Amino acid sequence: MPMIVAAKAGTCTAAGCGARIRKGEMCWFESATGTRHLERACREAQAGARPNRRAATCARCRRRVPPGQGSLTVTEIRRRKSYIVTCAPSCTE
Ligand SMILES: [Zn+2]
Ligand SMILES: [Zn+2]
Repeated sequence: MPMIVAAKAGTCTAAGCGARIRKGEMCWFESATGTRHLERACREAQAGARPNRRAATCARCRRRVPPGQGSLTVTEIRRRKSYIVTCAPSCTE
């Protein structure tokens, strides 16, 4: 069952959504698609946020990242892949 409690805040990867998923919120997770809302529309949508196509917030400096900019990186935390948007690959703040 790919249903998890979000270990940290993230962004729904469903096309047409891209809304925030709050820490502690139940969400749908598949390593191929990332975290999504439990709503069927989100679970079954095409992947939308990877590459970064929507406005997001840099995970490091918290600046807004406009759609189509920034970078999406995949990290593995406790054997779980996690997709993080940053404003630039070199951002370290
Ligand atoms: Zn969603
Ligand atoms: Zn940044």
